[in-house]
Amino acid sequence: MHFMKRIALLSIAAFTANAEPIKVLLVDGQNNHNWAQTSPEIKAILEEGGLCKVDVSTAPDNKAGDDKWAAWRPKFGDYQVVVSNYNGKLWPDEVRDAFEKYVADGGGFVPIHAANNSFPEWLAYNRMIGVGGWGGRSEKSGPYLRLRDNKWTLDTTPGRGGSHGKKHEYVMNSQNAQHPIMAGLPAKWLHTSDELYDRLRGPAQGVTVLASATSTKESGGSGEEEPLLMTIAYEKGRVFHTALGHDLVSVKCVGFATTLRRGTEWAATGKVTTPVPAEFPTETAIKARP
Ligand code: ZN
Repeated sequence: MHFMKRIALLSIAAFTANAEPIKVLLVDGQNNHNWAQTSPEIKAILEEGGLCKVDVSTAPDNKAGDDKWAAWRPKFGDYQVVVSNYNGKLWPDEVRDAFEKYVADGGGFVPIHAANNSFPEWLAYNRMIGVGGWGGRSEKSGPYLRLRDNKWTLDTTPGRGGSHGKKHEYVMNSQNAQHPIMAGLPAKWLHTSDELYDRLRGPAQGVTVLASATSTKESGGSGEEEPLLMTIAYEKGRVFHTALGHDLVSVKCVGFATTLRRGTEWAATGKVTTPVPAEFPTETAIKARP
């Protein structure tokens, strides 16, 4: 077991040793989740084997004065992809304009979990994430994505946007084995204990659902197949959206880590070179990072 693990780690290192690390900006600083605990793990996941070089931009907290906000101007253009672990106060106009331009011009964007709760009032952001939850989201925010006859369809039924049942382990169902992020992953794998976001809604334009999970009524969910990994085409930009990752336990799942690495690489470059590790979870066994 130890030996196999070493081989897997060595192969990741060898695979990426020749490439320049992808330049990543991780944005955090406000969240109704423990961002201070998950951000270092997200950074470690992305930097493993030299895949990425991650800088962190921590936004001011809610007690900060206007001077702190005036000084917070992330240089999105210096990076190939922006990863968001942020759910909080609306960014200043200047930062929002810069971010919209950055993604529209071809920058990558990776919203993680509650980042899709952020900014219900910011239309361009909601187009980037495709669908989101909470913050008063409703039918006015856009449709639900619903799997009907094996096709993802837009459902405009009125109702809340965003909910989840109790935390539990659940099986992820690949919905697109051909997509570079998904190629080589098993058709089903067990995700570690996490929230299973349901009833997300939004503009839902240009969305490709990569993986979903069944949200059972017994767990307090919607009774629907819920999209949890997706890509969104926004102008020239590529977005990889993962609704997984509630806490440190969820983020330490090898399935979360692998899809985050591959999705971030794809959002940055349009390609995926990150191999699927030997310890990737199976349908019945979760695997945690050390
Ligand atoms: Zn959560």
